[in-house]
Amino acid sequence: MKMDLLFEVYHNRLKEADAERVVDNYFEKYHNDELLETVQDLLMLSLSEYTAYAVWSLEFGVIAGYRYNGWPSKCSLCSKELQVDKGFWRVDVTNEIVCIEC
Ligand SMILES: [Zn+2]
Repeated sequence: MKMDLLFEVYHNRLKEADAERVVDNYFEKYHNDELLETVQDLLMLSLSEYTAYAVWSLEFGVIAGYRYNGWPSKCSLCSKELQVDKGFWRVDVTNEIVCIEC
């Protein structure tokens, strides 16, 4: 039941639409009480990765790129240092990662 979603996406074993279908399927099972773990755990997503998808609607291909090539270390607007795993970031209208003060 566990699946490393971003690994599959990054290695082109799942296309964006397929990944979305997989996630929808997991959420459906979750809402039907058919899962013993959260969707985040079952898809092996970190909190930042899950937030990027669920809150900010970034594409899985983009999030997979961040996991394997590194998240931005600076706010794309003010260049302030970012530590994405500690929070205090958001995604702006151009889908760039920025600090919460921008
Ligand atoms: Zn900033």
